[in-house]
Amino acid sequence: MTGPAEFKPATVEKIWDRDRGCCAKCGKPLVWDRRGPGLGGWSVHHREDRGQGGVKRASKGRVQPRAYLALAANGVLLCGDGVAGCHGEITRNEVPARLGFRVPRIGIRRPVDVPLLHALFGWVLLDNDGGYAPADEPDEEEMAA
Ligand SMILES: [Zn+2]
Repeated sequence: MTGPAEFKPATVEKIWDRDRGCCAKCGKPLVWDRRGPGLGGWSVHHREDRGQGGVKRASKGRVQPRAYLALAANGVLLCGDGVAGCHGEITRNEVPARLGFRVPRIGIRRPVDVPLLHALFGWVLLDNDGGYAPADEPDEEEMAA
């Protein structure tokens, strides 16, 4: 997987440091050298997915980049990949949407706005600098926004 929405190596390091090298869903410690599929593998999950059009979408005849898709708030470390581990569960929609691991593309809120239930930190808002701040657990009303 390559392309403008792919996380750059420096961003992956930022996300790794923020998540302390652990799966953000189950908290399992990961091994840096095992990124990718296979036993003990891990990956960086896009909370808001890249969609079929990559980072670009047509709007009023122009193509607008959605650069935030490749930034730290949109990425979390997960054990496994698209089919295995926590990444597999999230890809198969087996994890409740309210936990914040998936940000709807059509919603008004972007990844920086959507609280995440992080395995190590509890409810947080992630920022694009590799940081996070405590957040309130979202209520149903917020989820509908
Ligand atoms: Zn996990």
